[in-house]
Amino acid sequence: MRAVTAHPDVLVVTSSFWQINATAVRAGDETMLVDSPYFPEELEALPGLLAGAGFEPDALVATHADFDHLLGRLAFPGLALGLGEPSVERLHREPGDAQRMLRDYDDRFYVERSAPLALGQVQTLPVPGSVELGSEELELHPADGHTADGMALMARWCGVLCVGDYLSNVEIPWISAGGSVDAYRATLARLAPLVEAAETVVPGHGALHARDTALRILDEDVDYLDALERGEERPALPTGRDTSEQRGIHKENLTRV
Ligand SMILES: [Zn+2]
Repeated sequence: MRAVTAHPDVLVVTSSFWQINATAVRAGDETMLVDSPYFPEELEALPGLLAGAGFEPDALVATHADFDHLLGRLAFPGLALGLGEPSVERLHREPGDAQRMLRDYDDRFYVERSAPLALGQVQTLPVPGSVELGSEELELHPADGHTADGMALMARWCGVLCVGDYLSNVEIPWISAGGSVDAYRATLARLAPLVEAAETVVPGHGALHARDTALRILDEDVDYLDALERGEERPALPTGRDTSEQRGIHKENLTRV
């Protein structure tokens, strides 16, 4: 797990698993934690690591309801988890799915956890909308297409945009079950002006990007979706993302167009 300061009030912690990013955003005396790291040791170390840098979360939020982003309460069991309305609806449609997926991946990688995932009382957030943080407002923008749910969080006062599973330098656009290419394209179009207004973009997985890098990835992702919709079996994948794992995701994507 590594930590990077994106802004004096934003600390991004990256899990050693899938490079999942968890972002602590502070405004005045309030802090929100967006998404979560994965491994039990990382979750155990997280409160101390954040506190050492002056971040003590008062609230948790997840960009979407995929299991690998929902683990905040394993580090902060006393806090409620906030989810966008589409994510709450998804959890109701797929009861127990996140817990099952977590168990499956833990089994596959021999990860032992002392407690199962309990989401507790979920707090529903309006998307599009905003949520107050100290004296500031975190903007919530719809970001579906990868899944049926999803939201991007824009901390405009510090120029940081957390997009969830989009604009990654390690993952191609992934149209997972519940997602769609049309919705994915609409999300990229919606993200473009937000990226333009941001200094730093935090994807759900991979490195933090400066604005220009994020815009370049956005273009690459549009090109990829074009190739996907043409049904290309072996499209050129962007530099750094042409791996067998990403070829596997492409194969899955082809079943969804
Ligand atoms: Zn993810």
